[in-house]
Amino acid sequence: MTSWVKYGTALADVLLAVGSIERRLIDLAVKRVNAIGHAEFTSGELARLLTVMNPLTGEVVTTVSDRAVRKAVRTLKEHGVIEKDSSTLCLHFPADHLSNGTGTRGCRYHGIGARTRRRR
Ligand SMILES: [Zn+2]
Repeated sequence: MTSWVKYGTALADVLLAVGSIERRLIDLAVKRVNAIGHAEFTSGELARLLTVMNPLTGEVVTTVSDRAVRKAVRTLKEHGVIEKDSSTLCLHFPADHLSNGTGTRGCRYHGIGARTRRRR
């Protein structure tokens, strides 16, 4: 099945105004976001994914702390990129701005039923 991601221009505009951790958070969310705009991550996963390693040597080039991730999530909320109920465990985008039409329609973190059938 072909996957598609809706990526609003409002989101693209914000990318120009925020720092690199914030931009990379959005990149990670683009890959994971579901049909209702939720991108779930496990505890500490974002910091791990954002930490950069040299692929040849395995040496850590840039370490990103949980604290830095929390700060970036806060910044994205302030810009209205993600909803106020977002956390490091779920980046919740307004579905108009970012969503994946072929994704699921639930979120464990927000307690939204993942088994809801599509009605279309
Ligand atoms: Zn969620």
